Amino acid sequence: MEINVINLGPMDNCTYLVTQGTDALLIDPAWDMNFLEHILTEKKLTLRGVLFTHGHFDHVKFAQNLLEKTGLKGYIEASDAELSGINPQFLHTYTGEQTFKIASFDVHIIPTPGHTAGGVCLQIGSALFTGDTLFPGACGRVDLPTSNPRAMRASLVKLAHLPEDTQIFAGHSYGGKCSSTIGYERIKNPFMRNALREEENV
Ligand SMILES: [Zn+2]
Repeated sequence: MEINVINLGPMDNCTYLVTQGTDALLIDPAWDMNFLEHILTEKKLTLRGVLFTHGHFDHVKFAQNLLEKTGLKGYIEASDAELSGINPQFLHTYTGEQTFKIASFDVHIIPTPGHTAGGVCLQIGSALFTGDTLFPGACGRVDLPTSNPRAMRASLVKLAHLPEDTQIFAGHSYGGKCSSTIGYERIKNPFMRNALREEENV
């Protein structure tokens, strides 16, 4: 499996093109990606699915266009479907922890509400796409519509208990970095550390 980071837009978004053989998945396509077709042709890839970590515009903006064109469905947690503004006919909505088989990929969904009600992390192999739940050294904002600070703490605790060599790929490269490991964040991320401390004291 290969993970290509595409850094785009004025908000340092990280879109990911995940490939395996000739299959490709796209995660959080937001900004102008008209060059995508060129990448797919050049690398002889077939796009098999589009997945969203949550419904904020800076993670979904390019998708409607792409889904219309390709006939693929965009996978989004049901609570964030409306927020995405994408026509529901192009969406596959779901709730709860589960695994989707999309072409040769097994995509495991870990619900991680807090930043938004329908925020999820996507686990593919040992890679975890964390959207705006977990960033290297930080976590997503919890002062937005449908945010919930208590849910965010529980989500950070859930992620902290994943294997420490799990590699994370965040939704933004704030500070120039979009990837890290759970093991590193457990020690260095003040938000994850606080969440774990609170869990121990309950
Ligand atoms: Zn967001």
